[in-house]
Amino acid sequence: MDRKKVLEELSTILKVDQINTNHEELYDASADRYKKYAKARKVLDVPLPIAIVYPNSPAQVSQLLMFCNKNQINVIARGGKTATEGGLENWKDLTLVIDALLLNKILKIDVYNMQATAQAGVPLQQLEDAVRKMGYTTGHSPQSKPVAKMGGLVATRSIGQFSTLYGGIEDMVVGLECVFPNGHVSRIKNVSRRAGGPDIRHIAIGNEGTLCYITEVTVKLFRYFPENHQFFGYLIKDIETGIKVLREVMANGYRPSVARTYSEEDAAQHFYHFYKNHCVLIFMAEGNSDIVAATAKGIEQAVKTFADGIVEKVESKLIQDWFNHLNWSQKDIDDEFEGMIENDSHAGFTTEISADWETIPKIYRNVIARIRKEFSRAADLTMLGGHSSHSYSNGTNMYFVYNYKIHCNPEDEMRIYHHPLQTIIVEETLKLGGSMCHHHGIGKYRNEWTKEEHGSAYYMLETLKSAFDPKGIMNFGTIYPQEEGKKYQK
Ligand SMILES: Cc1cc2nc3c(=O)[nH]c(=O)nc-3n(C[C@H](O)[C@H](O)[C@H](O)COP(=O)(O)OP(=O)(O)OC[C@H]3O[C@@H](n4cnc5c(N)ncnc54)[C@H](O)[C@@H]3O)c2cc1C
Repeated sequence: MDRKKVLEELSTILKVDQINTNHEELYDASADRYKKYAKARKVLDVPLPIAIVYPNSPAQVSQLLMFCNKNQINVIARGGKTATEGGLENWKDLTLVIDALLLNKILKIDVYNMQATAQAGVPLQQLEDAVRKMGYTTGHSPQSKPVAKMGGLVATRSIGQFSTLYGGIEDMVVGLECVFPNGHVSRIKNVSRRAGGPDIRHIAIGNEGTLCYITEVTVKLFRYFPENHQFFGYLIKDIETGIKVLREVMANGYRPSVARTYSEEDAAQHFYHFYKNHCVLIFMAEGNSDIVAATAKGIEQAVKTFADGIVEKVESKLIQDWFNHLNWSQKDIDDEFEGMIENDSHAGFTTEISADWETIPKIYRNVIARIRKEFSRAADLTMLGGHSSHSYSNGTNMYFVYNYKIHCNPEDEMRIYHHPLQTIIVEETLKLGGSMCHHHGIGKYRNEWTKEEHGSAYYMLETLKSAFDPKGIMNFGTIYPQEEGKKYQK
C-alpha cells in the first residue's frame, strides 16, 4: 500500500480533522528529544510518518490498529512527546503516529476507594490538579509532569520525584485498558490485589508502544498534607557519604518522599547559590504529622551516624525553594529547543542506571574515570557528574549528567558525543550487574544492549513481542534491536 492509498483508507475510519498531514508537524513527529539538536538544525535523517491521527475512542484505536496490522503499517503511539530515548523516532517509510490528544477525559475520581481513572491523553498535571482540589495526590511527579500524559507515563514505566514514598508508576497503576495490534481490547479490572496468575498489568506498563496501545489508566490516590512538609539539606564530603546516608535511612525503614545525593559537579548546576564546592544531600518528608516527625528523626539519626562525612547543614527553605522550580513546562521545553538553533552546546543530557547499594559507587567511579581517560572529546565536556534520586531498600539509581560543547556537524553529534558517553555508562553498569535503564525506557538508542540487559530472560521479552505483535507493526526498533535501524544509531 502506498502513502496515498493509506490516507484514502484512513478517511473511511476517521473524520478529516482527525488526520494531520501538515509537513512541519510530521517533521516534528519523526523524532523526539533524543535527536533534538539535529531536529532543531533541520538535519534529521529519518523518514516522515504518513500522518498523525487522533482517535477519539478505544474503538477507533482498535480499528486503526487492525488496519495497520493488516497492511503492515508501523505504528508509533504518542502522548505528551517528552520521550528522551528515541521512542517516538520513526524508522519506517510507512508509519502512522497515533496521538492520544482526543482521549482526554478524566473518567472518575473515587476518593473513598482512593483511585482515579483517566484516558491516555490526560496530562498528569490536569489529573493532579483535579485530585489536589479534593485533598488528594496521585503521588506521581516526574519533572515532565506539566506535559507528559497518562498513557505515555505508564508506557515508559516512569518515576516521579517523590518515588521513595509513593513508588514508581508500576506501584500506582491499579488497572488499565489497552488495545493490541489485532484490535483486541483488554481491560484489567481495578482491585486492591490479585493472585490470578502472573501480573498482566506489567505487559502494558513499560511496553513503550511495542506491544499494545494504552487507552485508559486507573491510579491510586493518597491523602495530601502539604502543611506537614519538611525539607532537609546537607553539604557533604563526597557522594559515597551521601549514598551511605541514603542507605541508612532506607534500611531503617523510613520513607522520605525525596532522598537524593549530588556529586559536586552536578550540585554546582542545581545548588550554585549554596553548595560551596561540596556534594549535596537532600531529603523531604511528607505525610501525616506523626509519620513526618518519625521520618525527620530517622533522617537526622542517619546523618549523625555518618557525621564524619557531613560538612554542614543547609537552611531548609533553600531546599524547599529549589523544589518549587524543578518541573519543566512546555515553554521550558520549547525555549531549550529554540536555544539549540543558535548554540552549539548540549546541556543536561542524562543516562540513568540502577544497582544495589555496594555496586552504585563503583559504577559511578568507573564511569567517570573511563570517560575522562577514553572519551576522545573529553575536552569539550563542560560538566560531568551525577546524582542518586530514587532509593529502595536494596539499592538506588544513578543519574549521570553531562554537558558538552558541540564541535561537529549537527547530524554527527549523537555519534561523536552522546553515543560513546552512553556506551561507557551502559557497559560499566552491565559489567557490574546493574540495570542500564532506571526510568527513561529503552527507546531506540539503548536497544543495542537489550539482550545483554535481560540475559537468559530476554526469551520472555521476545516471546511477548511475537505473541502480541507477530507482524512487528508496533513501534519498530523500540526496545527490540533491529538490524535495519543500525544506520540511524551510529
Ligand atoms: C524535561 C523532562 C523531564 C523528565 N523527567 C522525567 C522524570 O522525572 N521521570 C521520568 O520517568 N521520566 C522523565 N522524563 C521522560 C518522559 O517525560 C517520560 O518518559 C514520560 O513518561 C513520557 O510521557 P509522554 O506522555 O510524554 O510520552 P511520549 O513521549 O509521547 O511517549 C513515550 C513512549 O511511550 C509510548 N507511548 C506513548 N503513549 C502511549 C500509549 N498510549 N500507549 C502505548 N505506548 C505509548 C511512545 O510510543 C514512546 O515510546 C522527562 C522528560 C523531559 C523532557
